[in-house]
Amino acid sequence: MSTTTPAVPFPAATITGYPRIGRRRELKQALEAYWAGRSTREELEAAAGELQLATYRRLVELGLGAQDASLPAAFPLYDQVLDTTVALGAVPSRFADLAGADGRLDLDGSFVLARGDAGRAPLELTKWFDTNYHYLVPEIGPGTPFTASAGRLVADVRRAAENGFTVRPVLVGPVSFLLLAKADDDAPAGFDPLQRLADLLPVYAQLLGELAAAGAPWVQLEEPALVADQDVPAARLAAAVQEAYPALTAVPGRPRLLVTTSYGSPGALLRPLARSGVEAVHLDLVKGAAPAPAELALFAGEGAPVLVAGAVDGRNVWRADLAGRLGELEDLARAGARVAVASSTSLFHVPHDVAEETRLHPLLRSWLAFADQKVGEIVTLARGLAAGRGAVADRLAEAAAARRSREDAPGVRDAAVRERAASLTSAEIGRAPAAVRRAAQEGRSFTASGPLPPLPTTTIGSFPQTAEVRAARARHRAGALPDAEYEGFLREEIERVVRLQEELGLDVLVHGEPERNDMVQYFAEHLDGFATTVHGWVQSYGSRCTRPSILWGDVSREGPGLRGEAFTVPWIGHAQSLTDRPVKGMLTGPVTILAWSFVRDDQPLEQTARQVALALRDEVADLEAAGIGIIQVDEPALRELLPLRRADQQAYLGWSVDAFRLATSGVRDETQIHTHLCYSEFGEVVGAIDGLDADVTSIEAARSRMEVLTDLEAAGFSRGIGPGVWDIHSPRVPGQEEIEQLLERALEHVPARTLWVNPDCGLKTRGYEETKASLEHLVAAARTARERV
Ligand code: GLN
Ligand code: ZN
Repeated sequence: MSTTTPAVPFPAATITGYPRIGRRRELKQALEAYWAGRSTREELEAAAGELQLATYRRLVELGLGAQDASLPAAFPLYDQVLDTTVALGAVPSRFADLAGADGRLDLDGSFVLARGDAGRAPLELTKWFDTNYHYLVPEIGPGTPFTASAGRLVADVRRAAENGFTVRPVLVGPVSFLLLAKADDDAPAGFDPLQRLADLLPVYAQLLGELAAAGAPWVQLEEPALVADQDVPAARLAAAVQEAYPALTAVPGRPRLLVTTSYGSPGALLRPLARSGVEAVHLDLVKGAAPAPAELALFAGEGAPVLVAGAVDGRNVWRADLAGRLGELEDLARAGARVAVASSTSLFHVPHDVAEETRLHPLLRSWLAFADQKVGEIVTLARGLAAGRGAVADRLAEAAAARRSREDAPGVRDAAVRERAASLTSAEIGRAPAAVRRAAQEGRSFTASGPLPPLPTTTIGSFPQTAEVRAARARHRAGALPDAEYEGFLREEIERVVRLQEELGLDVLVHGEPERNDMVQYFAEHLDGFATTVHGWVQSYGSRCTRPSILWGDVSREGPGLRGEAFTVPWIGHAQSLTDRPVKGMLTGPVTILAWSFVRDDQPLEQTARQVALALRDEVADLEAAGIGIIQVDEPALRELLPLRRADQQAYLGWSVDAFRLATSGVRDETQIHTHLCYSEFGEVVGAIDGLDADVTSIEAARSRMEVLTDLEAAGFSRGIGPGVWDIHSPRVPGQEEIEQLLERALEHVPARTLWVNPDCGLKTRGYEETKASLEHLVAAARTARERV
């Protein structure tokens, strides 16, 4: 091996990535201003460059080295997979016109891939492993061109160097890049992107050469796909690793290579990776297992790679047990490994800085570590490993004290909640057989308006969240709008939405969810055991961020007594009081509440899920008692938490399905439970969807033109089903005829007595104009279809 840059040893402390959106979401503002035409490209680039430098300065302040390659240069403007697509010049055929004569995409071209344009849908967005981040799926076919395009990466390295920082560029590694891609539309059947590995490697080789020449002593290649079971057989994966990395390490003049494997363990793929000649391999020691002795041996001896121990959790917000972690690191070092300390994943899954959260209870605040605090933990661990425990004794003691205070703080363990969860019987989890319930529900007059017609029409819950609704909520939060006025405003908004639905002729109405900004926060605000943050934004995709709540203690509804008070009944009951038609109650399910929060790490997730489910069960009971005969419990995140290894999936599906059933099974036979799932690939979860035992399930189906019904039909699914007939992800209004055709297709798979008619998902991001037009068409199409069945 030969490198042109001086050999910089791997730094003792590093992170694999840092939040890139900015402490005040500066990147979001810069991007959105540029897209809206309010700023120039130079202004956008300047804002992004400033953010990079501010990040480096901050990280050095927190204890990382300025010049030892410990600072990752990982600053995608939109998405890291998109940036790798651009760096590889892997321009999908349907965007080929955007590439320059040299085959490369510029920044504006890359934004078209991300956001689409008048004639083209953007690249598909898909969940990034088992997180709530979404990446842009590369489209690769047999003829997709590859052209090294190191421009942005090199510019970042140079800008950093001019300001005194030696940074480590980051790319998605070749195996993961292809595994994360999908075959493009022109690809023949049987093609899979991994077949292009040999074509891709020379492009990586060239990028590595250019980065070394620009002065980067190390480059980080991310291979998270190695920790997940793939459709590709294991032997083929191992062969891909064995092909890729020895080829890259043979590149003359290359930088040293760190390969990361976040989100789990690479299992049997660790051996070929560690033996490939790369200089450092990162392991996630939080989600993944500590290396077994035989694996540890791969890191010992002359020429072995550095073991970059992902010892600090990059995905959750709790302070680490530093003494315990240090012990594990010492064990690794004692076994002969050269150990560096790192985060388990990039820190972009957590907010910037706990110090910003001045409104949090000080005790809770003392238990938390956001990105900046985690960097401090990593630096402490590295120092302890190098200089001995004594050198960091104060820090270890502080961390231990924080964890102790968490153990017995009020609210963390609530005896009554625990007793209730422990004394559950199986009778409380099941309902009567589905057929019995269907008989009780069919022909039931949910309200004075009489029984539901066949092919009933409904929506998924939210109505457009207008600027007015958002402004009122913000003013209320800021204390500028008194409670009573805000409540009055919401009641009027609900009335408006009810009247609109009556005019449109929908059969099952909703209250429209104007009191909720997202699906979880409103619940977190009304449940004990949760806290919400002010600045705790994390990137969901592109410039979109969410502010996950923090689930820190035992969960029950807020208010007196074990069961507390109903918090959705005031709105939903109000809606029902305004109309003869049935109003569907709307709740977020237990798994989704967990998936979109930072969840306590001191007990199994399953146990936490059961507590959340019990609180929801109380809300369901109160809705039923208030005369709500149809209750929908949304679980759009059920699939997101599915473990990356098949061997772990059954156990997860077992407890998650049980949590849903616990939340929903306390009702009478004639009360109809709905659920909503917003993705259209069921594959491995189709059995679980049936297991939820909901009376009616609405799913996303418009874009796949009802394709998903084939999966459900094949699995023998016979419950009520509402396949979406309107793709709500774009402002496009579907025509009546188009909806009629979709319903006809649906009726080929589903009997008329179980088919519902609804959009793909909630309408909160839509405008009123397209909502009215689309729902008019939906109702008219359902009426026409009804006449035919
Ligand atoms: N009831 C929610 C809504 O309509 C469902 C949202 C979702 O599935 N993501 O907004
Ligand atoms: Zn949805």
